[in-house]
Amino acid sequence: MPEGPETHYNADRLDLLLGGRTLQRLAFSDPALAQRQEQLQGRGVLGVRARGKATLIDFDNDLTLYTHSQLFGYWRFGTRQGHVPAGEPRVLLASERGWAALYLAPKVEVWPSATIEIEQSYLAKLGPDVLDPAVRPEMLAARLHQPAFRRRSLAALLLQQEFAAGMGNYLRSEVLFDAALLATHVAGALDAGQTQRLARALLEIPRRAYRAKFRDAPPPHGKDYLAHTARTFRFKVFERDGLPCPRCGATIVIDRLAGRRIYSCPGCQH
Ligand SMILES: [Zn+2]
Repeated sequence: MPEGPETHYNADRLDLLLGGRTLQRLAFSDPALAQRQEQLQGRGVLGVRARGKATLIDFDNDLTLYTHSQLFGYWRFGTRQGHVPAGEPRVLLASERGWAALYLAPKVEVWPSATIEIEQSYLAKLGPDVLDPAVRPEMLAARLHQPAFRRRSLAALLLQQEFAAGMGNYLRSEVLFDAALLATHVAGALDAGQTQRLARALLEIPRRAYRAKFRDAPPPHGKDYLAHTARTFRFKVFERDGLPCPRCGATIVIDRLAGRRIYSCPGCQH
């Protein structure tokens, strides 16, 4: 499943392809969206942005196309003019620069741009986005101790989009490892040092994962906050059960918590 870094990366690629350009082609596979297809066909695209794990494409007629990849959705991109992508994409978008096709995404909706962020149910409940440069560690530190979240285990909280948008399953394991914390802690019981470590990792790890996608190129315009972020990212514990921990050498273990697999090191996460 794409998490925040992958969603933001795809949104940036879509923005390069479509931002400031006129749509040459638009097709939805869902017949229920036929009227929307007519409304958006041939319109100009103002820009493309990610919010959590959703992608928003803003058009010049005050409409916004919302997609959420959920578990299996994925984007494909191509530059060949006139080339038709294989299969039956749920959404096909093309400008003079090339095309983008979204496959298997269960959520495709069109909303008025002015109200989408307050009326669309997923967007309306999103917490601060871990890839939003305006989000600071202090905000997340305070959030861990707020009434809505303080009784929850880190295992559940670190998947909850209301707490921190863009978090997901691989990020959960990696963030907790970076903060040297076990997932079984209750948020409100973390001491000041643990809270700070976790808040910092909640931003640092997703940003590093995102930044690594531009290893050989500068991050796109407006992502200057990533300038000093490490360009490499690889899993330290996720999908590494049975292997030695890169920090202490103990054997990494796998568990299931809050319905999803989680990886941790029993030697250095407490
Ligand atoms: Zn360890």
